[in-house]
Amino acid sequence: MKPVIALVGRPNVGKSTLFNRLTRSRDAIVADYAGLTRDRHYGDGRVGTYEFIVIDTGGFEPDSSEGIYHEMAKQTCQAVAEADAVIFVVDVRAGLSAQDHDIARYLRSTGKRVLLAANKAEGMKDGPQLAEFFELGIGEPIAVSSAHGQGVRSLIDMALEGL
Ligand code: GDP
Ligand code: MG
Repeated sequence: MKPVIALVGRPNVGKSTLFNRLTRSRDAIVADYAGLTRDRHYGDGRVGTYEFIVIDTGGFEPDSSEGIYHEMAKQTCQAVAEADAVIFVVDVRAGLSAQDHDIARYLRSTGKRVLLAANKAEGMKDGPQLAEFFELGIGEPIAVSSAHGQGVRSLIDMALEGL
């Protein structure tokens, strides 16, 4: 069985862009507006010699109790349940948000292996922008650029290590 990686994060942080990079597909819809990918979305991931299943998810509002956001949260929880490792994507340019804290709290409660991907980090030096994400209690933020590919291989190395 190939390991399963779920991509989780609030809308517009670059989950679908990362999905496309990992699967080399255009299946996931990348948009300039939030919340477009509303269903779980599976793909065959490949990075170097690693092969895995990757699940893209829509946005995640842990406290929503009804409507489309509730449905998106439910789908995300199912994806997390199926995953061997979760990549929690945050937007290093937008900075830390209340939603990121809510998602972090939820992910910590699952006991899953979670990697923190600080996306949109192309052209940035490690340091100040990354530091605030330690607050999430997920561990060290890993600087990546899904759009440009920077850091993606080592992110996957860490996600799949020992699996
Ligand atoms: P999702 O809602 O989390 O799936 O986010 P998308 O993948 O749809 O991306 C949202 C926006 O962020 C799009 O305009 C992307 O082009 C942009 N984006 C995604 N990854 C990167 C990145 O690594 N760097 C920059 N600068 N923009 C990115
Ligand atoms: Mg998306």
